[in-house]
Amino acid sequence: MKKTGIFYHPSFSRRSYLTAGNRLADFPDAFLHLLSWENIQLFENKPVSKDLVRQIHTNRMIEEVESTLLCATAYESAGGVVEATEKILTDQLTNAFCFIGCGGHHAGRDYFWGACCFNDVILAITNARQKIHKNLRFVILDTDAHHGDGTRQLLEFFNDKNVLHLCLCDREWESEDGLRIDFDATWVTYHGDPDKTYLDVVKKALDMASKFPHDLFYWYMGFDTYRGDYGSLGLSKECFLNIADMVKSFAQKHSNNKLQVVLAGGSLREMAAWLLPKIIEKLATWEDEN
Ligand SMILES: [Zn+2]
Ligand SMILES: [Zn+2]
Repeated sequence: MKKTGIFYHPSFSRRSYLTAGNRLADFPDAFLHLLSWENIQLFENKPVSKDLVRQIHTNRMIEEVESTLLCATAYESAGGVVEATEKILTDQLTNAFCFIGCGGHHAGRDYFWGACCFNDVILAITNARQKIHKNLRFVILDTDAHHGDGTRQLLEFFNDKNVLHLCLCDREWESEDGLRIDFDATWVTYHGDPDKTYLDVVKKALDMASKFPHDLFYWYMGFDTYRGDYGSLGLSKECFLNIADMVKSFAQKHSNNKLQVVLAGGSLREMAAWLLPKIIEKLATWEDEN
């Protein structure tokens, strides 16, 4: 049976970044109805190991994160992402949705900003390679509104050729080796049909990912691009479900079903309560045929 994990910690609803807990204020209530599904399992995030964090970030930065109030959930936020990857790659879970209290993609080797503290995805990749297999390959699709500068910097710092980093942001750029690609999505705002234009960019990114064999697909899922949120591209609510469908069918075809959704930016409480359980439902209604 295909199995979906939800990784959550109650502190994310009380001490979450951006809005002092507001955006996840309706959780866990908003997903409780899903816990009666036999293929959905809830995990309470454990803190990520400090030894692992020390491999990715400098001691100076770790100290600063620890003394930053908005990073109160840093260890638990990254811990769930790390554990979910391990469980998916060892077939204990098919896919997972990871809630966070603070984000990861603006966390580099020695700096963090923009509501991010530790780089959750890089920590998860590093841990999986040490515990499961050293040559594991990953795709990261970042649909948060902003450029994933921290993730990009760490991939370069470690000269990681086994990760394809696809980032929808505000620039059009591709590295020489084709492993780091930015798609300018800002012009979507000025287009007549923002949803369709944005989905075309997602499709372009997924087409590139289909040429990169990998063991697990990360969807770094922000909803700050939603109409009226702080990174708005004018996207409708439904657009996010469309992206979810595209990512899901991609992962079924190209990622051996192994999909991990990591929550990123977005501040609106009502949108979170509406959207996130629906995405979890999509993960949990994973058809058997590929
Ligand atoms: Zn963002
Ligand atoms: Zn980017």
